[in-house]
Amino acid sequence: MSKKKPRPTPVPAEPIPGLVDAHTHLASCGARTKEDVGAFVARALEAGVERICTVGDGLEEAEYALQAAHLNDRVFAACAIHPTRAQELDDAARARLTEMARDERCVAVGETGIDTYWLTHDADGTAPLEVQEEAFRWHIDLAVESGKALMIHNREGDAEMMRILADAPRPEHVILHCFSSPLDVAREAIERGYVLSFAGNVTFKRNEELRQAAALAPAGQLLVETDAPYMTPEPFRGAKNEPALIGHTAKVLADARGMEVADVAREIGETFSRVYGV
Ligand SMILES: [Zn+2]
Ligand SMILES: [Zn+2]
Repeated sequence: MSKKKPRPTPVPAEPIPGLVDAHTHLASCGARTKEDVGAFVARALEAGVERICTVGDGLEEAEYALQAAHLNDRVFAACAIHPTRAQELDDAARARLTEMARDERCVAVGETGIDTYWLTHDADGTAPLEVQEEAFRWHIDLAVESGKALMIHNREGDAEMMRILADAPRPEHVILHCFSSPLDVAREAIERGYVLSFAGNVTFKRNEELRQAAALAPAGQLLVETDAPYMTPEPFRGAKNEPALIGHTAKVLADARGMEVADVAREIGETFSRVYGV
């Protein structure tokens, strides 16, 4: 047995001006007060990360996300009930999420979608597939109605997600957050005009196919995100993630596309502005 190497403390990449974090969870990172949100934003800004979309994946977390977006002008919110918790989407949750989607600081309805991974790993604690589908369709309708971007979580649910998206009403902007699907799904998604948002797992050595997908996405259909506190990029995989660390992922995207990281950051910044309407 080899001894486990000590894990290095994560440090941001060289500052890359104009960077954004299209999907993170500030409340799950521990930032719930104005001061804590401000501290995360300050560290992100030092690394060039100028705008952040923070996601609430349950009603309580969505309240925190929206609050953070009102407390800090660098922060925007996405609100929804996560697919694994789709059974929480009762009438009261629907009413509140509908209000939230109308809030000008809420820029996306998400994360919603399909997660069959947790269905097989925690069947008791995870919403059944038919409940997930019903909630997904409700969130799609909310995105269409509110004009906000639809932000999708998909874990081992490619076929279901693509089928539901194809026969549901079409929101103006569809974002596949933490894109982790095979190349054929990437091609189909790009053809349909969806935006692929890449997280730290695009930096993992074995995920060459994800880097190929990142190279395929045209300008305007590519975003970068941390999904913090999870999905920490190499070389800090396993440590706690935060928006300030996104430069490592942006660099890998730039390499995959054969571009300068500053140019990729600018392109992605423009896409952030367009899909989130900010
Ligand atoms: Zn997700
Ligand atoms: Zn997430």
